[in-house]
Amino acid sequence: MSEEAPYRAHVAIIGGATAGAEAADRLAAAGALCVVFEQNGRPYGKVEDGLPAWHVALRKKEYDQIDSKLTRDGVLFLPRTGIGRDVSFDQLLEEWGFDLVVLANGAWRDRPLSVSGADAYINRGLVYQNPFIYWFNHHREPGYDGPSYEIHDGTAVVGGGLASIDVAKVLQLEMTCQKLAERGIDQDLVEMEVEGIPATLAEHGLEWSDLGLQGCTLYYRRRLEDMPLAEAPANPTPEQIKKIEAVRRRILEKAQRKYLFSVDPLWTPVGLLTHGDRLGGLRFARTRIGEDGRAVIVPGEIQNVEAPMVISSIGSIPMPIKGLPMDGELLRLDDVEHGRVTTFDNVFGCGNVVTGKGNLVASRKHSRQVADFVAELLEDDASPRTDLDSLLAHVQEQQANVGYDGKYDEWIRQAWAEAHQAIS
Ligand SMILES: Cc1cc2nc3c(=O)[nH]c(=O)nc-3n(C[C@H](O)[C@H](O)[C@H](O)COP(=O)(O)OP(=O)(O)OC[C@H]3O[C@@H](n4cnc5c(N)ncnc54)[C@H](O)[C@@H]3O)c2cc1C
Repeated sequence: MSEEAPYRAHVAIIGGATAGAEAADRLAAAGALCVVFEQNGRPYGKVEDGLPAWHVALRKKEYDQIDSKLTRDGVLFLPRTGIGRDVSFDQLLEEWGFDLVVLANGAWRDRPLSVSGADAYINRGLVYQNPFIYWFNHHREPGYDGPSYEIHDGTAVVGGGLASIDVAKVLQLEMTCQKLAERGIDQDLVEMEVEGIPATLAEHGLEWSDLGLQGCTLYYRRRLEDMPLAEAPANPTPEQIKKIEAVRRRILEKAQRKYLFSVDPLWTPVGLLTHGDRLGGLRFARTRIGEDGRAVIVPGEIQNVEAPMVISSIGSIPMPIKGLPMDGELLRLDDVEHGRVTTFDNVFGCGNVVTGKGNLVASRKHSRQVADFVAELLEDDASPRTDLDSLLAHVQEQQANVGYDGKYDEWIRQAWAEAHQAIS
């Protein structure tokens, strides 16, 4: 790329995954120079670390899309550079001199379990979903040094969305693999995810009851048909509500048939059961659905659930970055549609960082919407306020700090080689 290239603006994009790569692609196409800051070595975000590893084809497709967007003209990649960790948000605007910042940093903080004192038991009986799925996706890699978990039969999962069903599936699949391994059977977990547990066991002449496992249970605070497994249209008619509730039930029943986990609806955690310095389960209160559609506690009905492990899967929220306004758990925005961050006219958010939830299609779509809005602003004000050479000097210095020489394909190849070295 020529240093004299006539960029319309210099844009910092925080996060290089689905939303970040999409924004970089769109804004570079609109004539901006986009510098993509990614905290990790690889830029795949929740595609690599959230989506369970059995989504083999989907992950590959998303990786390819991200790679091609981050290697287009007008995009510079800066790996292993966390904003708020290695470079502050203020530095981006003041020292590096970016005209615009697009936040595409996702939602990497688990919403805290709302039982007083619970977090004192993290990794002593209490586990949160994000590190748990990270562990599941990576723990077989040689040299893995992330969080480490032992799977326990009888685990209680608190949650109710698609992600919490994935947590239940991970537990069931891992436990079944372990039990088969004890019998000398080396079962491929991804194949079992496709076939389902009963069909896989049948191929080995076994049934679930032969394994001596109780399985995990998902505790949900609302009714089964309220689980956000399929989205209702806006302002649904009573018929549409009925239909969507039936779809949700069918999705859940299919998952339970294939992976044999239990679900116990209309319970919300209200207390901790402890054994010495470990969490040994949860106290749940019965709920009912009130007239406003919210879950309300039914006084006097309590169950104590002893569990060797509790996994909380009640949603993800963005990690706060110093210098950015928050509204409770979420970024404070003037306008969700265009991702405009309150108090700034040049900072925008897109994808999971805005709502904390969503999916790949929603992240990409929102990012496109935000980038197209920002691109329109560039048409009005078409010249960067800062000197390109000084910006490039910052970029090159940081690239050198992290050992990245600007050759994206080689960097990614090397990063995968390190992760998968001894696997094959
Ligand atoms: C268990 C689970 C299962 C799922 N299953 C599906 C599914 O089947 N289908 C589907 O469509 N979606 C699924 N999703 C949702 C989907 O993975 C996400 O909605 C989507 O990947 C979010 O993309 P994003 O780009 O908005 O955020 P992310 O993918 O989170 O990208 C954010 C990026 O920003 C980087 N970053 C964060 N903070 C900083 C910082 N301070 N500085 C620099 N970089 C930073 C991160 O490392 C990351 O690369 C699932 C999610 C989970 C958790």
